[in-house]
Amino acid sequence: MTREREPAKGKTRGSSGTGEQVYCSFCGRSAQEVNSMIAGPNAFICDRCIKTSWDILRKEVSADPQTERLPHQPFQPRLASPKAIMNSLDQYVVGQEAAKKSLAVAVYNHYKRIDSQELKQEHDEVVIEKSNIMLIGPTGTGKTLLAQTLANLLEVPFSIVDATSLTEAGYVGDDVETILARLLHASDFNLERAERGIIYVDEIDKIARKSANVSITRDVSGEGVQQALLKILEGAVVGVPPKGGRKHPEQQLININTKNILFICGGAFEGLDKLIAKRVSKASMGFGAKVKTVQTGYDPEILKLVTQDDLHEYGLIPEFIGRLPVITTLDMLDETALRNILVEPKNAITKQYKKLFEMDGVELEFAEEALDKVVKIAISRGTGARALRSVLENVMIDIMFEIPSMTNTYKCRITPETIEDKAEPEYFSDERKRKKIA
Ligand code: ADP
Repeated sequence: MTREREPAKGKTRGSSGTGEQVYCSFCGRSAQEVNSMIAGPNAFICDRCIKTSWDILRKEVSADPQTERLPHQPFQPRLASPKAIMNSLDQYVVGQEAAKKSLAVAVYNHYKRIDSQELKQEHDEVVIEKSNIMLIGPTGTGKTLLAQTLANLLEVPFSIVDATSLTEAGYVGDDVETILARLLHASDFNLERAERGIIYVDEIDKIARKSANVSITRDVSGEGVQQALLKILEGAVVGVPPKGGRKHPEQQLININTKNILFICGGAFEGLDKLIAKRVSKASMGFGAKVKTVQTGYDPEILKLVTQDDLHEYGLIPEFIGRLPVITTLDMLDETALRNILVEPKNAITKQYKKLFEMDGVELEFAEEALDKVVKIAISRGTGARALRSVLENVMIDIMFEIPSMTNTYKCRITPETIEDKAEPEYFSDERKRKKIA
């Protein structure tokens, strides 16, 4: 048989263009037996074989989440394993191991859930629910930092919103839609990226009802906002004014689907530990156990026992809590943690100052005792790690004002007295040693 007499060497469905019958090079079916036939330079493939090949490829991709995406797959955040996520978080966030672990797993599952929707088989009955996250912990312990760092690691758009600025219908503060408008901005108006972004809602505890028992006098500012938020938390298509601000009849709206946006809510929940303590001591009485003296005050150990019921008791409505299935608590930062925060993270504040000085050709050194002093003052302010920057900034500002003009100085050493009394730091001068900046 010569090559010319072999089946299937043409361009059109049903014939080779020379009137000859064509056959699928994979299954051998003739063009009459299939719906469509696609021609390559030396072969044909029928629609059935294309479908079979696609199914095989899909299975391979879903079996290994690290596999590279197929070329035409939609935008996908970088999906690392929970351990890899945790390791990366460690480089920026000190302590908070439990919160990091929960976040790593929740985020990994979240993006797997998106994958499973895209690869959904026809008869798949298991639907993975969204794992929005609630972070509970005192101010300045790294809630926002965790959310922000996660978004950076995954290279997804990120935006922060203060729950207290939101109102039910936007009469005084922001509409809930504004949150989505910000995310759209953060993604440079790439809708596909925005729809897989992360939104951090801060001060979520401030929109709690004053008491779970209040039913007649509904306080709009709290419960109304919870109602408005819960719609977008679970997944809804929301028309968003691209420029932000109020909806305007002439303004064209962009429809954002929130079903794959990950929401991380955070709050200090002052007094929540007391509610939990009350519940725990009641429960132990009920079982005839010896009642332990339950500590009140901010107690992270008690806070770890938090349940959805406690959050309801605190004033969050059950539907809202139900949409935040992952609840995790953050520890109060002790002296050692604060000390580490000053020097260890990749972009630790002392590293940032050193870099700024280096750019002026000056070496910056912090005496160990000077850093201890910063920590002591920060602790007395009671705002967690947040105080570290302000304590340091307060003394560094004058030095940074002077240094660029001190052309002979090649090194500056911050002493404990500099921190405590704003005494002049130790300057080392030698014109020849000052590095020249290009
Ligand atoms: P929160 O949201 O819990 O009130 P933030 O995350 O805004 O606190 O923290 C404020 C600042 O304090 C951060 O920008 C960061 O520099 C520092 N910080 C707080 N907690 C940590 C931590 N655990 N590790 C490293 N830095 C931290």
